[in-house]
Amino acid sequence: MNDNNRVLLEVNDIKKYFPVKSGAFGKKSFIKAVDGVTFKLNEGETIGLVGESGCGKSTLGRTIVRLYDPTDGQIIYHGKAIDGDIASLKGAQLKSLRREMQLIFQDPYSSLNPRLNVSNIVGESLLSHNLVKPGEEYKNRVMEIIEMCGLSPYHIYRYPHQFSGGQRQRIGIARALALNPDFIVADEPVSALDVSIQSQILNLMMDLQERMGLSYLFISHDLSVVKHISDRIGVMYLGSLVELAGKHELYDQPTHPYTRALLAAIPVPDPTHLRKMEPIIGELPSNVNTPPGCKFHTRCPYAKDICKEQIPILREFNPVKHPNHFVACHFAGEI
Ligand code: SF4
Repeated sequence: MNDNNRVLLEVNDIKKYFPVKSGAFGKKSFIKAVDGVTFKLNEGETIGLVGESGCGKSTLGRTIVRLYDPTDGQIIYHGKAIDGDIASLKGAQLKSLRREMQLIFQDPYSSLNPRLNVSNIVGESLLSHNLVKPGEEYKNRVMEIIEMCGLSPYHIYRYPHQFSGGQRQRIGIARALALNPDFIVADEPVSALDVSIQSQILNLMMDLQERMGLSYLFISHDLSVVKHISDRIGVMYLGSLVELAGKHELYDQPTHPYTRALLAAIPVPDPTHLRKMEPIIGELPSNVNTPPGCKFHTRCPYAKDICKEQIPILREFNPVKHPNHFVACHFAGEI
């Protein structure tokens, strides 16, 4: 992994709300799946995104690659779009940008078309973007990509059902790489795989990152997987980023009470690490009627009156001792 500090992607206060009808009179309200997220991703860097199911991490990834239109906010992709703002792109410009931003899905069983062989799955985007000519050039490029992903040339005429789960995820990765992207959102890419296969896929992704200079937004509910592959880690709660820091800093100095609660839920070899970690209490509130102030106040053992009224902003809570460690808590560093 390589962090050369050149910003590839900037996400500024991005929001994605889904309309829903609720109540006896069908009153319109909104699921606030992503509710004002801001961060920067450097070239060659991996940011891991963690949080409970339903916290908005997958929606955030899909909004960034424009599978969803953002409700509000700005997505700036380094040097790739007119005035850098892709939230306003349509048609051909959007298609061209999609070449550079790809998605790897969670479930290699359902994300591959069972009627297409590997050659078609991996290569169809090459033809639709006119990047190769049909025939030899097409076949050679597909072979090159699948070999890079640890598959063999004789696999190209086989169908998804003829592969194991790990091999299918290799096909999914090959499909994402076909257009030579520089940014990939990987949405729980190893959660459906056996633990023994997970590390092979993670190592493949890290090798490919090195070779191709890729940047990843790596989404997972599994903190040990995220720790393995990420440079920095962001923690999401009810559509918002509550903590963002380098992975060692985050694991050594978890500062937001929610991050501590998440870490408390995984076994650690050194029990002294549990000193300041509290198990999470209560249910995840609805993301339609989100709690006012700090959204975590209904579950936070440190909540005070101010927490119920004022939204804490994501800030570098101690730039001298903990540079680049951002936390959204009124009492960060004090509790
Ligand atoms: Fe807890 Fe208040 Fe901090 Fe929110 S702002 S995490 S409620 S102490």
